[in-house]
Amino acid sequence: MILPPATLGMLGGGQLGRFFVSAAHEMGYKVWVLDPDPHSPAGQIADRHLVAAYEDFAALDQLAAECAAVTTEFENVPAGTLDYLAKFIPVHPSASAVGVCQNRIAEKSFLADNGLPHGPFAAIRSDEDIANANAGLFPGVLKVARFGYDGKGQARVSSREEALAAFHGFNREACVLEKLLPLDYEVSVVLARSAAGEVRAFPSGENSHRHGILDVTIAPARASACLADTAQQVAEQIAAKLGYVGTLGVEFFVTRGELVVNEMAPRPHNSGHHTIDACVTSQYDQQVRALTGLPLGEPRQHSAAVMVNLLGELWYEGGAHDGKYREPDWSVLHAVPGLRLHLYGKHHARPGRKMGHFTVIGDDPAAVLERAMAARAAIGIRDE
Ligand code: ADP
Ligand code: MG
Repeated sequence: MILPPATLGMLGGGQLGRFFVSAAHEMGYKVWVLDPDPHSPAGQIADRHLVAAYEDFAALDQLAAECAAVTTEFENVPAGTLDYLAKFIPVHPSASAVGVCQNRIAEKSFLADNGLPHGPFAAIRSDEDIANANAGLFPGVLKVARFGYDGKGQARVSSREEALAAFHGFNREACVLEKLLPLDYEVSVVLARSAAGEVRAFPSGENSHRHGILDVTIAPARASACLADTAQQVAEQIAAKLGYVGTLGVEFFVTRGELVVNEMAPRPHNSGHHTIDACVTSQYDQQVRALTGLPLGEPRQHSAAVMVNLLGELWYEGGAHDGKYREPDWSVLHAVPGLRLHLYGKHHARPGRKMGHFTVIGDDPAAVLERAMAARAAIGIRDE
């Protein structure tokens, strides 16, 4: 067990890392963050911010010398970096678990090999793979296997010709071609797993997206108890099969009443932000606990919650990037009962960039949803 005042290492300096730093600080730990961006949200509040590339071995040596254990907040940390650090100190999740989640071909193959529910797909590495793809995959979505996020690196394709054009547009990088599924709705499960194999899952969240980016999470999801249970079981199976240690997010589609896994995130998940305000233990507390070998905390959700993401376009008058740049009027949100605002300290707002979020909590799920959606409109988020 690693106890305070030990220093923990965090690879990545985004908002997920920032919440980890806050949780670790609350519990008495120190945190060093490695991120090449000198203005990174987590770096700003860390005890030390190593401004260095993920493959800067001198910086990794410093991290290994100072930290008792290391974790990550984003899936694209090079596997070599995790492997290198693991020679000196505990690294959770492992390079192999992160490796599965950071490549859509490996991820889908993992689901298929383990008999876990997933949609129809084909690995695309060449023009021939598109020529040979099952006709049933169209209309489909072509996604780059690596480094896609928030709907980036994806193209909807209705035919083989369109798939070929999109593949060339992605410079023939390895891709997966997925069948476009009719979505009833989307849910996610965030869980924590300890090195001893103990698992604690949060109640599932119901997610809606706007332009490919998470917009609103309703927690608990309004799904049937049976579907929610199944989602939790599948997420637990994934964690066990990966030998996963830490906080894991699993995204699901519900298509014609059936659950299929969309993707996994080897880190806390945007749809788990509400756990900070609505659960006994947050997904970030669990990440600290799993990393340090503490017993996992109670994931019980004590309040109904709705989380709304605040994206960069809010900083532009009229929501358009040619609008005047100004700070949104946060007093509007602070006036809403049960609302907590979280801003990530990012220096410049770009349209689509995640700048913050708010969570509304309360006893009555319908009233919480109504208040959250009214607050979302009041701060200027429009459904077009
Ligand atoms: P990202 O890494 O950007 O989150 P996802 O694969 O989760 O990528 O895709 C983003 C969103 O696009 C999904 O949450 C879903 O709304 C939609 N989407 C992706 N793939 C499919 C699909 N095969 N069928 C229907 N909708 C999809
Ligand atoms: Mg996703």
